[in-house]
Amino acid sequence: MRAIVVGTGAGGATAARELALRGFEVLVLEAGKPFRPFTRNISWAAPLRRVGALGGERTISRLFPAMETRRSSEDLVLVRGLAAGGCTVLSCGNLVRADNGLKDMGVDLAPEFEELERLIGVTTVPRPRWRPLSAAMFDAAAKMDLSPAPTPKAVDLSGCVSCGLCELGCARGARWDSRRFLGDALRAGATVRYGTPVRKVVVEDGRARGVLAGRKGAPERMRADAVVLAAGGIGNAQVLKSSGLRAEDRLWADIVLTVGGRSASARMLGEPPMVWYARRDGYMLSPYIDILSHWFHGPWRKVPVGDRVGLMVKLADEGNGRVNADGTVEKPVSEMDRVRLDGAAGLARRLMEGVGVEGPFVEGMLNGGHLGGTVPLARCDAATMHPSTLPEGLWAADLSLAPRSEGLPTMLVAAALALRVARLIPLRRT
Ligand SMILES: Cc1cc2nc3c(=O)[nH]c(=O)nc-3n(C[C@H](O)[C@H](O)[C@H](O)COP(=O)(O)OP(=O)(O)OC[C@H]3O[C@@H](n4cnc5c(N)ncnc54)[C@H](O)[C@@H]3O)c2cc1C
Repeated sequence: MRAIVVGTGAGGATAARELALRGFEVLVLEAGKPFRPFTRNISWAAPLRRVGALGGERTISRLFPAMETRRSSEDLVLVRGLAAGGCTVLSCGNLVRADNGLKDMGVDLAPEFEELERLIGVTTVPRPRWRPLSAAMFDAAAKMDLSPAPTPKAVDLSGCVSCGLCELGCARGARWDSRRFLGDALRAGATVRYGTPVRKVVVEDGRARGVLAGRKGAPERMRADAVVLAAGGIGNAQVLKSSGLRAEDRLWADIVLTVGGRSASARMLGEPPMVWYARRDGYMLSPYIDILSHWFHGPWRKVPVGDRVGLMVKLADEGNGRVNADGTVEKPVSEMDRVRLDGAAGLARRLMEGVGVEGPFVEGMLNGGHLGGTVPLARCDAATMHPSTLPEGLWAADLSLAPRSEGLPTMLVAAALALRVARLIPLRRT
């Protein structure tokens, strides 16, 4: 059996690994290039930042092409990793179980979570490695009954130098990313082609027979018995719609709003990001310096990075986004999301004030990088993990399957969904 896996992020690499280990002939197609972390010294840019001469957030994609940023509405920036490893190479290494809406429909991922946690390795950053202000905010959160906990991390702490810049790629290789699973797949006989975007799924007689991939004007036809789409919430929807197939206009992104305050010599970049988190109803709080806001968001400009304090709100947002066949995305911040963000940001601010963080408190750029919901599972798909909207032979194996936003880290759930799907593919030969 020959399988084509599209994408090498949390879902794609997991599916490719599993299928290759089960004896499939696996061809992995990745739109991006092999990933390199951003290691250039950009201290020259600090004076430009202060006067706002760096331009908007798209500048980062010019300096660091693996990070794609785009506005899905005036006030929301969507971020994704377009490279080997997908968004996992930009991740903060948080490895949290998130399964909003899945268990209710009969998809209990506990066995996959457990297996993946064992395979990847989970730890927490010990408190002596936290910056004093993060520790103080943790204690304040506990006093406010917010039940904070150290964040589970997929990081080898002996190799982590606490540079605080996980999102620019881990130059030390201390943080897990899905390229490790891709490596397992390749050792098990899979092959990968980088710089090869899938344009369309080829469907004949109601069954997926392969893909058209590569150059836009002259794509190559590649044959497969099973096509596994793992191009993420945006990528999958784009490929499906370009192929005349159905994707849902229910994209969610887990909107991030980081509240910025000031405290002299806080040096929050001297610790791994998000060392603790507090789960609330529909969102989480976590200490975090938002790189995009620091470099490109006007209201954040006045404070140097060493004095900046950030507390992130990550909101489970409404699934109200639409991906078009040309890859453009429309996703506004809904009124309800705005109200909930305001409430959570108020709490973040009170927490910071409680430990002596000073104002002016400024909101960061609204951004979202957890892209799901466009090929959502329904209750009737729970046993097969094959959305009934897809033709035979075509699967989705990534965060696009998750029906509802999480307000929590999503790498693990994307990988767990992919693992479950990959194990069911051999059982559904027709
Ligand atoms: C900055 C940032 C930080 C994050 N931090 C964390 C964290 O700490 N913990 C956590 O759990 N989650 C984190 N996430 C989210 C998490 O990484 C993603 O939710 C997860 O990787 C989603 O997996 P996926 O397989 O659905 O998609 P992705 O990981 O995005 O993989 C999609 C892949 O498909 C490729 N692709 C796209 N279109 C095509 C095409 N047409 N043809 C071929 N290939 C294509 C992409 O290049 C990519 O490799 C973060 C996300 C971002 C953006």
